[in-house]
Amino acid sequence: MANKNMQEFQNSEEGRIHLLEKLPLIAFEYVFNQLHSKGYFVKLHGQTEEFLGLRPEILLQNADAFFQLISPADLEAVKLLFESPDLTLHSCAFRCLQPDTSSKWLKVKLSKTIDDDRMIRSTGFISTPGDLEHTIMKNEERFESLNSLYNLILNFSSLLAQSPIDEIHHSVNEALSQLGNYAKVDRVYIFALEPETDLLNNTFEWCNEGTNPEIENLQGIPYSFVPRWKEIFAQKGHVYIPRVSEIDPQYEVEKEILEPQGIISLLALPMYYGDQFLGFIGFDSVRHEREWSPEHIALLRLAGEIIAGALNREKYERSLLLAKQVADDANRAKSEFLASMSHEIRTPMNAILGFSEILINTIDDEKNKGYLQAVLSSGNTLLSLINDILDLSKIETGQMEIMSEPIHIGSVFNEIVQIYKSKAQERNLSLDIHLAESFPKVVVMDDVRLRQIMFNLIGNAIKFTAKGGVSVFARHQFLDADHRHADIFITVQDTGIGIAPENHEAIFRSFYQVEGDNTRKYDGTGLGLSIVHKLVNMMGGEVRVESELGKGSSFILAFNAVEISSAEPEPDAGYDWHSTSLNFEQATILVVDDIEFNRELVKSYFLEFGTLRLIEAKSGREGVEMCRMHKPELILMDLRMPEMNGYEATEILSNDPETANIPIVAFTASSMKHDEALINSLFDDYLRKPITRNQLINCLTRFLPHKIQHTTKHPKISSQDELIPDLKAKHLIAFLKEFGRELAPRLEILKELLDIEMIESFLADFDFLCRQFAIKEFESLTNRLRQDALQFDFESYQRHLTTLSSSIDRLKQLAHK
Ligand code: ADP
Repeated sequence: MANKNMQEFQNSEEGRIHLLEKLPLIAFEYVFNQLHSKGYFVKLHGQTEEFLGLRPEILLQNADAFFQLISPADLEAVKLLFESPDLTLHSCAFRCLQPDTSSKWLKVKLSKTIDDDRMIRSTGFISTPGDLEHTIMKNEERFESLNSLYNLILNFSSLLAQSPIDEIHHSVNEALSQLGNYAKVDRVYIFALEPETDLLNNTFEWCNEGTNPEIENLQGIPYSFVPRWKEIFAQKGHVYIPRVSEIDPQYEVEKEILEPQGIISLLALPMYYGDQFLGFIGFDSVRHEREWSPEHIALLRLAGEIIAGALNREKYERSLLLAKQVADDANRAKSEFLASMSHEIRTPMNAILGFSEILINTIDDEKNKGYLQAVLSSGNTLLSLINDILDLSKIETGQMEIMSEPIHIGSVFNEIVQIYKSKAQERNLSLDIHLAESFPKVVVMDDVRLRQIMFNLIGNAIKFTAKGGVSVFARHQFLDADHRHADIFITVQDTGIGIAPENHEAIFRSFYQVEGDNTRKYDGTGLGLSIVHKLVNMMGGEVRVESELGKGSSFILAFNAVEISSAEPEPDAGYDWHSTSLNFEQATILVVDDIEFNRELVKSYFLEFGTLRLIEAKSGREGVEMCRMHKPELILMDLRMPEMNGYEATEILSNDPETANIPIVAFTASSMKHDEALINSLFDDYLRKPITRNQLINCLTRFLPHKIQHTTKHPKISSQDELIPDLKAKHLIAFLKEFGRELAPRLEILKELLDIEMIESFLADFDFLCRQFAIKEFESLTNRLRQDALQFDFESYQRHLTTLSSSIDRLKQLAHK
């Protein structure tokens, strides 16, 4: 062709198209209708089929076919380039998906115009990037891919770290599935090595859709079958087999294992936990060969190690749980053994003690009496040890129930003082209770257990104090405006021997006793505080100690969010007996109650009656035995007891001609009103807990022969502010007269001056006067005044004196009505 003709041809439309068809690119014209969001190719020339694998006619008919070839990661950028009215966008690169699921990089360049009717017209080229561009793109792609692998690992590592042990397996499967989808492989799995047998087991497996699982076939493979792997893993290296078919014949066994699974290419990475080889994680390709960059391998290895960490945590936690289970079982077995042993020992012990006691009263020989005394006191020590063990085993075997019932804190404290006051007096110790002002009267707690706790703590405080005394402080903090809940704090403080800091924790352990300088001079079992600690915890509270050696100790109980009840405590009805007013004839009374506190309380009420002998039993069964042995004059029987309850024991005794005539009085818990009919039919009388001294003595007078020397009869006065309407005016006038004559002038002086000696003598005389007239209502006020004077709390002292003075004035008004 002549040159001129050639130039004409090239300049013509036909010539340009001819040229375009020859170039390594696709030239296109594309129109996008913004109104309908629809686009189409108007012209296409060049290497459409080579680049995109589609004939131009197809794309001219359906532009979407083009967009469907674009990797989802790049689609948005390409769409923006073709469809956005932004004329500054000229080019972008994208991955074009190939039929074999791989992709290749292409780039598109265009220029755009926009018509009046909002049509965007683009003219441009799609071509392969140049070498440099290609390298940059490849790097970007790798960076992106590593980044998403990194994020994926980050995600599942937090999932694995947070999974509770029962969910770890599920999370590991989830991690394998994410890795498999990411890496576009066909199978991801974990092999764990059994170190004892050197066998490999396939423990986890994820398979791509259409790939057969192999986990069942891959159990118990000797690690020695793959010596090359063993060696590589020992060096912390990885195994990469690009083509299974090309494995060196010397590793024939590998081929035999891998080929039946259809594996073409494989990567296996060791899983170490510290220096311990746990197994490996593997990635199989069954469709095509797979290449891995060193960075990918490093990250996948990290993934394997994170999974190994989680599996190791699971193993460790399971072994801990198992160990705990074993220890708990052993502990429970021990407690059950102790409980049944204790029951077995208690029965013969009661016979030993009962008969020793009978014997001691019948023999005269002092030496033999001494021996028997030793039997009795060792027997009693043994019995109290057994009782503590029983309590502890009950707690440990979960047999101790915590009840919630309205209890009158004031009466708990009063009874505690009642039990311990003579012991404190014997040792010349003070024992006082300080209830904070407005302390709730009735709280919902476990009455029995609170008493048991206080009983232990105050018992210890007295035992370990030689000088000074014991104070109990109760304070509260309301948690809501209508005072329905409060945190309650009770402190038992003593001025005793104290506890060194290093023993503050240990004393709450079972059988722990602080060793003294020489040998121990305090008796005890070392179980009391352990029981206290466990009971307080069961009641949702805490106990701690503050103590300094030689200065004293404070045991602080904290109960959170205790419910406050508006129920009023039951009034203490009946006569108020003076100890001097009654004389009982010689009698033996059997108290059957599993709670030591209750037995001690009854005992303390009897102390003043030298003629009454008290014997105790801890269960219905023991009660029956003791009754048969001692034939008491009266039985006080608790109803709720382990082993044999009060109803059963009473049935047995009533049906036995030898004991049928012994009167039995039931102790009932206040919540058991509905059982009244049954109680009335079975028992001679009943007393509702908490039992007050008056109620008990009233009851005794009904069954035991006695003489009344002088009685002052008046109804119970329930509170200080509530004046005494029924108090006989005469009686009151006599009291006031006495007061006015002797004490009123002294009270006036005391209002001006805080003199300890003077207040003490005033209070002693005032107490005496009150006792003479059986007026108990000033008891707590005089105690407070004593305390104020001792603490030089002048403000509180004056307030209490004013209260005393105005109470007397109100009595005067009442008496003269
Ligand atoms: P026990 O009193 O029967 O020995 P506990 O469990 O009640 O057993 O107390 C354990 C030990 O804690 C006691 O042996 C004693 O060494 C010490 N301890 C308890 N209470 C006090 C206290 N108030 N003052 C000094 N030491 C105490």
